[in-house]
Amino acid sequence: MRSPDSTPSTFIEKGQGFSLPTKEYSIPDIDISLQPIHSFKDLFHLKALTRIIRLPIVKNIFSARVINPRSIESLKNARRSLEDVYFRDYETSIIHIDDIHSINVDLSYEIRELKKDTYYLEHGEDSFIDYISKLYNNFDGHVMRGLEFLDNLHFNCFITDRDGTTNNYCGHYRSSIQPVYNAIFLSRFASLCTENPIFITSAPLRNFGIIDVSVNPDNVFIYAGSKGREFLDLDLVEHRAFIDPARQVKLDELAAKVSELEKKTEFEKFFYVGSGLQLKFGQLTIARQDVANSIAEEDSLALLQSISDIVREIDPDSSIFKIVDTGKDIEVILTVNGQNGVRGFDKGDGLKFIDDQIDLCLDKGPHLVCGDTASDLPMLEAVLEYTDDVYAIFVTRDIALSRKVVQLCPNTLIVPSPDILLTILGVAALTMKRRKGRKSPGIFL
Ligand SMILES: [Mg+2]
Repeated sequence: MRSPDSTPSTFIEKGQGFSLPTKEYSIPDIDISLQPIHSFKDLFHLKALTRIIRLPIVKNIFSARVINPRSIESLKNARRSLEDVYFRDYETSIIHIDDIHSINVDLSYEIRELKKDTYYLEHGEDSFIDYISKLYNNFDGHVMRGLEFLDNLHFNCFITDRDGTTNNYCGHYRSSIQPVYNAIFLSRFASLCTENPIFITSAPLRNFGIIDVSVNPDNVFIYAGSKGREFLDLDLVEHRAFIDPARQVKLDELAAKVSELEKKTEFEKFFYVGSGLQLKFGQLTIARQDVANSIAEEDSLALLQSISDIVREIDPDSSIFKIVDTGKDIEVILTVNGQNGVRGFDKGDGLKFIDDQIDLCLDKGPHLVCGDTASDLPMLEAVLEYTDDVYAIFVTRDIALSRKVVQLCPNTLIVPSPDILLTILGVAALTMKRRKGRKSPGIFL
């Protein structure tokens, strides 16, 4: 699979390939050295450092600047530090919570994505696409079908979920820092092929939320957290939906009681795996399982029971909260009044709130909606209330979910992995650029 444009062969200075190395570097203030990782604190600190390294890399690529090789070395050191934990002989994959307690962790996401990033930066985009094409069955076929599906369209809204859709699933939300290649492909598509690109995620906006794990350049995406109840617009203005103060008090009470569970030995691990505890705007989420299924089912169900008991105690007639159990996460959501009584605020409500605040012209298509689970269907349904000119790409291997999406939206493409969706979007944007014959110095704008 070759991208349809003469992109640079690499992004580092080798005297060939990328031919615009005249502007000065934007260099991060830090280097990452090899470091021991024993605790989640160490892990999250290291991953936060990789965000500091990745942000200027993305910025430099967008501005047609070369990448400082020191940054690539830092990413390699981050990967080597994680591999040292993951592949250690006697304490393989063990991370310590404290002196007594430890937990097995799956660091494969972190290691794999760091490896992909350094490959992307050292070998360039064409070689990178060849590299990831070998990781998936029928990769080229999926990408070709995706390019035909998008048909060089320019979309009004590009509304997308993050985790499992544009980002490979990670065992720990806080360390799921967006890779460089991911940011380049997505931001390029958002800039060249869409008017209103919007992430709508269930994670919070801030406090270890979507902003803290993203490395897209500023002013490219609208970031909506807490299912769209809070968002950051393209002018970097934050918006929050109204929440009745009396209900907020109840949510605060719930958050305090759930936070107390960390002190109980049998429950403390849930604060470190998967989504961990996320105190969102209008919602609380706590993990009861991670993608690697590292929690025993019995323990996971015990947490679900405890959370249900706490919710019943605070809200005996179930008028304030709705519990949604995804199997991985327990979400406790402030309800809204729907057609069939009270229900949990969903991503469709979030999209309507965003439209209400900044006018997305939802009646003017085409729109592209991307998701990977049933919780993303409400945003597709919401868009379809305004126009039929809607396209959907879902990343799933779940046949029942695929059928539901197709029933809702006839213009649907199903793909099996986030990397395939990313490649479709990244290559579609290059095709668009070539068609328009843009000659700007930035390679992507
Ligand atoms: Mg998802």
